[in-house]
Amino acid sequence: MKNTQYSRREALGTLGLGSAASLGFMMAQQNVAAQNVADKGANLKITDVRMFNVGKFYVRIQTNAGITGWGETYGLVAKAAIALCEAMGSGLKGENPTRIEHIWQRLYRGHRDMRGGPFLTNVISAIDQALWDIAGKAWGVPVYRLLGGPTRDRIRIYPSATSWKIGPGGPRQFAATPQWVKGYVDHVKQFRERLGPNGAIMLDAHCAMPPAFLIQLANALEPQDVLFIEEPAVPGNIEVFKRLKEAINVPLATGERDRTIWEFIPYLQERCIDVLQPDIGACGGISQMKKIATLGEAYHVPLAPHNATTVLGMSASLNVMASIPFFLIHEGGKGYNPENVAKVSWTIDKEGYASLPQGPGLGVEIDEKKVMEIHAKKPTKPTGWPSPRHEKDGGIADY
Ligand SMILES: [Mg+2]
Repeated sequence: MKNTQYSRREALGTLGLGSAASLGFMMAQQNVAAQNVADKGANLKITDVRMFNVGKFYVRIQTNAGITGWGETYGLVAKAAIALCEAMGSGLKGENPTRIEHIWQRLYRGHRDMRGGPFLTNVISAIDQALWDIAGKAWGVPVYRLLGGPTRDRIRIYPSATSWKIGPGGPRQFAATPQWVKGYVDHVKQFRERLGPNGAIMLDAHCAMPPAFLIQLANALEPQDVLFIEEPAVPGNIEVFKRLKEAINVPLATGERDRTIWEFIPYLQERCIDVLQPDIGACGGISQMKKIATLGEAYHVPLAPHNATTVLGMSASLNVMASIPFFLIHEGGKGYNPENVAKVSWTIDKEGYASLPQGPGLGVEIDEKKVMEIHAKKPTKPTGWPSPRHEKDGGIADY
């Protein structure tokens, strides 16, 4: 590939910086570069958009240039998600896949009655990642290069030898008794001893603790230096978050169930969240995660991305974290990779830091044959609906 940057530098050395000739030369070089980018993009066309069920949901976008992009989402009813992706994808055939923002806006704003919401935004999240993957592959660079270039050398992740999150998912039984509070505090103390004074300990409230109980617990935890309490309340009523923020000194984090800049901004405007936790498979993809990070930056609030995806989605998320200024820690690791369907280009060091993905694109190689095999084995009919209960009385529980 011709390196215009190098040619320009070489030319400046020959012609002298201050001369009118060199300025003219620079302009000419820039125009050529712009044309190259435009031409390359203009020839690329989307030929197929398809979703596969691998436990999570992988979206594959094919192009007329033989470049294939992959993205991921989760949490959907398979049949509905695949049909929704097919409907969205049918309108994208022939479109230039590098018009990522334009396509995002088309998909999100196009259907006036069905704008937003978890199903639509989750599917768009996967499509968006696949488009960025294509763009990176088309230009032969990691996605973070297209997002402004690297802002760090490596990315801290958890769990690791120096970082741990306490609190399994699922409904909890509440008595809000001193014994309950003591149980959680003892658990945190054990990990503080294990990880040492510099270790990062997080507590996931998982939207399962009523505010009054959480306030009691958070105050008791204060001496343990918890990095943050995650999901202190169910998203939806900002007043609950405001109340918690007023009463709790431990930093509060949330965002795994929030989507797009419009759902994240109230936390910032009301100054009731200290750490934002968007998930790449739900928040609206790479495009939205980058914008959510910018909103956070304006309020000096860092990102600690949630991660419910396999290593494919995690690679997409790491690409964003490699390009943003305000970052804390990233959930996940290399463990979630069904039947080793994905080969990733990043490693994790002893201190619990991931290296930057190498690209091109997201820096993930997908075994397409294996994707088809896993997909073919999945049931085609829905397999039930969650019904979280309180153990003692059978009432429905948040979690
Ligand atoms: Mg969580």
